[in-house]
Amino acid sequence: MKLYLSEITDSISKKRVEFTEENDEYNHGSSLKGLDLEVSFYRAGETVCLKFVGNFTIGTVCDRCAADLEVCTDVSESYYLFPEKSSDDVDYFYSGDSIELDDFVRETVVMNVPGKILCSDDCAGLCPRCGTNLNDKKCGCNAEDETN
Ligand SMILES: [Zn+2]
Ligand SMILES: [Zn+2]
Repeated sequence: MKLYLSEITDSISKKRVEFTEENDEYNHGSSLKGLDLEVSFYRAGETVCLKFVGNFTIGTVCDRCAADLEVCTDVSESYYLFPEKSSDDVDYFYSGDSIELDDFVRETVVMNVPGKILCSDDCAGLCPRCGTNLNDKKCGCNAEDETN
């Protein structure tokens, strides 16, 4: 999705983000299942400000028991873009007559994918000895034997 510089004015405008790269892989096999983001944008002199607010859903697995999960995460990320020729320590640039928003959407998702995801806070995980999913049943191994 492109944002044309001619659309960006001194006052804040908003648009719904259209992003079609669902099911891309993000961090450790997580895939993007859905995205509901709005971008607000304005310019301050030569600086273009972009702010993405909304949420996205990723499909992933529980870190403990490997069950399939979908996790919805709220996001709010701002970016400040400078003309390409500016030197200094600038992270984001724009050039030409438009800004490709997909790169920023992708970065917003990557930065906000939760690092550790559990199906529930008290997920019992898998038995370290036999691999049984202890959320489903007890396996009969004595976990305490393991530590002694
Ligand atoms: Zn789990
Ligand atoms: Zn077991």
